[in-house]
Amino acid sequence: MKDRLEALRAEALQELAGVNDPNALNELRVKYLGKKGLLTEILRGMGALSAEERPVIGQVANDVRAAIEGVIDEKAAAFARAETERRLATETIDVTLPGRPAPNGALHPLTKVVQEIEDIFIGMGFTVAEGPEVETDYYNFEALNLPKDHPARDMQDSFFITEDLLLRTQTSPVQARTMEARGGQVPVKIICPGKVYRRDDDDPTHSHQFMQIEGLVIDKGIRMSDLKGTLLQFAREMFGANVNIRMRPSFFPFTEPSAEVDVSCAVCGGSGCRVCKQSGWLEILGSGMVHPRVLEMSGYDPNEVSGFAFGMGVERIAMLRYGVEDIRHFYTNDVRFLSQFARG
Ligand SMILES: [Zn+2]
Repeated sequence: MKDRLEALRAEALQELAGVNDPNALNELRVKYLGKKGLLTEILRGMGALSAEERPVIGQVANDVRAAIEGVIDEKAAAFARAETERRLATETIDVTLPGRPAPNGALHPLTKVVQEIEDIFIGMGFTVAEGPEVETDYYNFEALNLPKDHPARDMQDSFFITEDLLLRTQTSPVQARTMEARGGQVPVKIICPGKVYRRDDDDPTHSHQFMQIEGLVIDKGIRMSDLKGTLLQFAREMFGANVNIRMRPSFFPFTEPSAEVDVSCAVCGGSGCRVCKQSGWLEILGSGMVHPRVLEMSGYDPNEVSGFAFGMGVERIAMLRYGVEDIRHFYTNDVRFLSQFARG
């Protein structure tokens, strides 16, 4: 048995000497040392040995195994070293190349402006209210004092889905819904930001989809001076501490009296420039005292409470804020445009 072990050692070492790739080395490891390998096969005969022979043969078997394992490990290490050197030689890395920049996402400029406007009004005690974009004729028009035959409906060419359902043309239905939900309780002090839709042909200043933010305050003793003070505070936080506002009489069906509000041009300080078309003023919103009929329809007594409302186009504010000249830029998702708002 000892002779067979020695012969196995000699055969294995000879065969290993000729190996020059890792796969062949692994095959030899299995052939000699594996569970069904040649060494195991010889050792199965151990049971037939005498008690004196057994430790002697056991020692020889261990030596043979150690010798074969030693050579295999040496060879494996050598193959690994050779592989590393081959890769070092062939795979060169130019550490002077510039790194690949990881593009950062950013908030859309309209989202940023909405958040900024929300922050200003939240600071004045308003809460943010939202409502559906698919709206009923009642909330979009009738509850806002725009009955079916009202000529002002023509000003707002609408996307009707059914006779009674449409894409909302304004965020005002959120006001009507909020008032109704409050069931005559005061105070109401909300702003409603959101997308609205009108059948407009898209051009540099019109988009069939755009965003509005409207505000509504209802309480006992609300006066037009409260409206003016609120909007002046907003304008100064939004456009700068030096700006002023002016109110021009206007008409909206859901307010009476109504006023267009201009902000003095922050670019030229009021002396006239390209942005304000030499007028020194920028039109930014519509406003007025909530029409008594609107209060009544939403469950309020116009003899008890009064309120004001205002609304502005978010794109208009964003265009003034960032010097954007075409409203369509906000909706075409050109990354070259959007990435300019990634910082600051
Ligand atoms: Zn100007």
